[in-house]
Amino acid sequence: MKLIPLTCRQCSAPLNVPENVLLVTCLHCGSQLAVVQEGTTVYTESCDQEQNVSLGDAVQTKEMDCQLIEESRQQRELAALDHEWKQMRRRYMLIDADGNARVPSSDTANNMAIITIVSGVLWILPAWIITDNWSPFLVLCLLIGVFVVIGLGLSRLHYQRAVAYHEAKRCYLRRRLEVTEVAEAYPTKGWG
Ligand SMILES: [Zn+2]
Repeated sequence: MKLIPLTCRQCSAPLNVPENVLLVTCLHCGSQLAVVQEGTTVYTESCDQEQNVSLGDAVQTKEMDCQLIEESRQQRELAALDHEWKQMRRRYMLIDADGNARVPSSDTANNMAIITIVSGVLWILPAWIITDNWSPFLVLCLLIGVFVVIGLGLSRLHYQRAVAYHEAKRCYLRRRLEVTEVAEAYPTKGWG
């Protein structure tokens, strides 16, 4: 910390005042002094009650300024994160037949897999009934098998997409939390 050599306005005693300090008490005469900086020159001024109040106000204003700057910086970062997430989210979204975008879910993927398997099994019986011979029945079973494999493949793709979406969302929320937590961990007061 840099010390600035000053003299007491009241008793002319030498004072070493740390940089950025606005109020000091003289150890020799005990008077309250304001550190005034005008350009490159720094001097002390005795504080009467009135000056104290106005100086207090100045400190208060400066703290509020710092807080506003910090808040707007935080808001800019959050807005940038939100924007980035909105763009990224679109890549994971699924567009249904009506053109509505929806979030991929692992539940939907599981349902797709179950429906595929159940309908595959259910089609074996009519296939057995409508065919009177082993070979056409086996051909139908093969077609049902292909349908089931494609259905399960699509379910798997949907599931992977849902997992990737939730991972990306978790990452986005964590980064968002970090921005707000950093602001709290380093409060804007005590800027000196
Ligand atoms: Zn003094």
